[in-house]
Amino acid sequence: MFREGFRDFLKKEVVPYIDEWEKTGTIDRFIWEKFGEMGYFGIAYPEAYGGLGLDLFYTVIFLEELQRINSGGFAAAMWAHAYLAMQHLNAEGDERIKREYLTPSIEGKKIGCLCITEPFAGSDVGGMKTTAVKEGNEYVINGSKTFITNGVYSDYLVVSAKTNPELGGKGISMFLIDRDTPGVSATKLDKLGWRASDTGEISFADVRIPVENLMGEENKGFPYLMQHLALERLIMAINASARSEFALEYALGYMEERKAFGKSINQFQVLRHRVAEMASQIEMHKQFNYHVTERLNEGEYVVKEATMAKLNSTKMADEVIYKCLQMLGGYGYMEEYPMARLFRDSRLGPIGGGTSEILCEIIAKMVIDGKEYKAPIPKKMEPMA
Ligand SMILES: Cc1cc2nc3c(=O)[nH]c(=O)nc-3n(C[C@H](O)[C@H](O)[C@H](O)COP(=O)(O)OP(=O)(O)OC[C@H]3O[C@@H](n4cnc5c(N)ncnc54)[C@H](O)[C@@H]3O)c2cc1C
Repeated sequence: MFREGFRDFLKKEVVPYIDEWEKTGTIDRFIWEKFGEMGYFGIAYPEAYGGLGLDLFYTVIFLEELQRINSGGFAAAMWAHAYLAMQHLNAEGDERIKREYLTPSIEGKKIGCLCITEPFAGSDVGGMKTTAVKEGNEYVINGSKTFITNGVYSDYLVVSAKTNPELGGKGISMFLIDRDTPGVSATKLDKLGWRASDTGEISFADVRIPVENLMGEENKGFPYLMQHLALERLIMAINASARSEFALEYALGYMEERKAFGKSINQFQVLRHRVAEMASQIEMHKQFNYHVTERLNEGEYVVKEATMAKLNSTKMADEVIYKCLQMLGGYGYMEEYPMARLFRDSRLGPIGGGTSEILCEIIAKMVIDGKEYKAPIPKKMEPMA
């Protein structure tokens, strides 16, 4: 029922605007509030703050249906708000932050973004240069971030910065910064795909924020990030298997209609075998992603499995979408058909939220060296639902 309701909602309220938002790179504000009114941003968050407190499989449905409307950018804007920014508010935010930011975020009245990546520190998170210096009752933030989803139009920013630069990765803390704080500026970036979402480069020049805007404890930023990365990576894995499924469904419909040499192209054995392989791959990845979701939902430690899921599902999605585009011949290359957008949107999968190379490093360290990425539970942490 939830899937059907959300699918209908997207069809009626979102799909008519998607082409326009893909062109302008700006998602109209009203849709955020509509998502909020319907409770979609709150499915995984506590009822005390206006959420619905539902299990993670509702999130899976939310993500899968977003992929099926074929705008990686729109989907990213929604899930970056609901799961990247809001996850930190829920886990590390204190009561005031939850009331003033989490609740309006659930209502779609405030939009958030998560700012980790910097121009000279992407994969190497510990190498970030942004600093937060305590001066009396304030922190003064200086530095810059880049490639931030919702980085231009969001109302608040969840930002990592070094409170103790000499400690490297162990000196990172998390902060909440209002968009209209003096010294915050953002520039919109032009990009290959995810065109409906705004991706920003952000600068912080002597940005003064109250000490209460420190999220969780000082110098615990890195463990907090690690804590949330399992879900972030699983989200990207689920997105990948969902968009592959959508691509194959579309290609199958096309193959039935399209005739060559007097028959439907779905009768050529070489293409049939390709379909068989793709269908098998998609199903295997989807089931593995569901399995990891189930374990995460039970509160199990799934850093390794979520990392494996993202590594493999995003690779599989790129391969499947490449092959599905081929099934459409020249039409696959045309903007009028969905495959072109799917193709460019999918390419972000192996890059964002940890590149495939970095994921391999993590898996290798866990498998070969026995390293654990278990983060201490922050003092103020509460379960998502
Ligand atoms: C559209 C988009 C949206 C994004 N949204 C956000 C967001 O909302 N918030 C946010 O904080 N970030 C966001 N990112 C940033 C993203 O997470 C980074 O781009 C990513 O982590 C890689 O960092 P980088 O681009 O600096 O690449 P680099 O770290 O410079 O890597 C360059 C290449 O070197 C490889 N490499 C680096 N180190 C190693 C190593 N040790 N071993 C092997 N290979 C290595 C990488 O895998 C990559 O292939 C977004 C990026 C994009 C493109």
